[in-house]
Amino acid sequence: MNPCAVCETPTKNNCSNCNQVSYCSVQHQKQHWKAHKPNCHPFKIAHNELLGRHLVATRNIKPYEIILKEAPLVRGPAQISAPVCMGCLNSIEANDHIDCDKCGWPLCGPECQALDEHKAECQLTQDRGQKVNVHEFNGPHPLYTCVSTVRCLLINETSPENAEKFKQLESLEHTRRGSNQWKADLASIGQFIPKFFRTEKFSEEEIMRTVGALQINGHEVPTSDPPHVAVFYTASFTENSCLPNLAKSFNKNGDCVLWAPQAIKKNAHLSICYSDAVWGTADRQRHLMQTKLFKCICDRCKDITELGTNYSAIKCEDRNCSGILLPSKADDWNASWRCLECQKQVQKKYVDGILERAGQDIQNMEKNEENILKYLKHYEKWLPSYHYHMNEVKILLVQLLAKNQAELMVISDEKLTLKLQYARDLILLYEKIAPCEVRMLGTLCFELHSAIAEQTRRISLQTSLSPKEMLEESLLYVEKCVNYLQYESDIFIEGHILKQAKINRDALRMVIRIS
Ligand SMILES: [Zn+2]
Ligand SMILES: [Zn+2]
Ligand SMILES: [Zn+2]
Ligand SMILES: [Zn+2]
Ligand SMILES: [Zn+2]
Ligand SMILES: [Zn+2]
Repeated sequence: MNPCAVCETPTKNNCSNCNQVSYCSVQHQKQHWKAHKPNCHPFKIAHNELLGRHLVATRNIKPYEIILKEAPLVRGPAQISAPVCMGCLNSIEANDHIDCDKCGWPLCGPECQALDEHKAECQLTQDRGQKVNVHEFNGPHPLYTCVSTVRCLLINETSPENAEKFKQLESLEHTRRGSNQWKADLASIGQFIPKFFRTEKFSEEEIMRTVGALQINGHEVPTSDPPHVAVFYTASFTENSCLPNLAKSFNKNGDCVLWAPQAIKKNAHLSICYSDAVWGTADRQRHLMQTKLFKCICDRCKDITELGTNYSAIKCEDRNCSGILLPSKADDWNASWRCLECQKQVQKKYVDGILERAGQDIQNMEKNEENILKYLKHYEKWLPSYHYHMNEVKILLVQLLAKNQAELMVISDEKLTLKLQYARDLILLYEKIAPCEVRMLGTLCFELHSAIAEQTRRISLQTSLSPKEMLEESLLYVEKCVNYLQYESDIFIEGHILKQAKINRDALRMVIRIS
């Protein structure tokens, strides 16, 4: 029994959404809702030595449930950015923008000058006594390096409430201090801000702590072109896993939406992937160490075979051996590698040589069917079929084999079969090792659904049978697609796929009902 949040009468009834507050009656729950609503999530913020603050589910969470929808504390241009509008953060061109009449920073129009987002650097630049003058629009502009830091430093003036929250975020300043990145940041931001803005408002230490907090907690948000950086409060406490149980989407406004692509059990830790779950283990670990300053020990990183997929492995050097090579020490991807079958060891240099060449060849390749098939044939000798490089080109191939409905109706049976096979394989693989990659999974499900529908059409032309089972499979994948993409905004390509998927789904349901 817990005390009612309103009258303290002992009760067994909890808020069913968060399971964390108790009420003696529906009336008291209603009365308390306005105060409780901002904190009513199906998780709590817990704390331990190892993880610091982290999120724990307070009840069973159903597939596709939204866990958290949160506006950013602050947002701004990426640290390396070409000139963008200081309001909407979209790119601007030399002959198609205005300069803010108060501070000189470029804007795409008067409506963006009025946005609150721009107030921080606008005022600071006015106090400087001299307008900013940006006239180079191609490529990264050094002046933009400090903008997001300035916005964080002045967050107290734009929102004291957000400033309080920003202060609580981890900056890892003590770990960063002295590193090459830190030294570069010190010159381009820490020493630059006081000099350029002619201000003594911020100490060097305060600036560098802010730079750290921004780097450790910043998310890349794709709602602007180019993507911008935003810091979220509660989402920052979500721990990292390369096999996470939450997916991250962004709505039109750039708010962060965390949701569960699969069911989550009560008391489970909630996690997102700070890196890219499509990368191999060595690349993810390097990226996490460089940007977030920690070594990942998640379940996927601890298992060198990545759940038996051998996603980062290469084939044994010995052509008579069918084994695969992986690091000889499970937690060190830089040590020598060893064949799991014949035990033969090779130097890391040999592995790097193959992987670098395989990566370079993808980069330099003109992406068409023929080249991709050639690539797959060639690298079959060195890479297992589930290797990340092989999958990277297979994903491209699935989309290139019939780019639209008209092309799909005329491709050869052979190519249709290939599209079906690769789409199926890729969905199986990524649902296993990267269930959070919902945009990719949703897109693949759409491709598979339409390929199955086309195959069904071809079969029913040849026989009088109506292959209901195939139609049902096509429906299954288009429903999966809708589930995976349901939170995607229509400013993204995935939002458009979602729209088409809903139309196809309804049509298929109708066909199946009458057949
Ligand atoms: Zn009560
Ligand atoms: Zn609640
Ligand atoms: Zn704008
Ligand atoms: Zn301005
Ligand atoms: Zn990991
Ligand atoms: Zn071997």
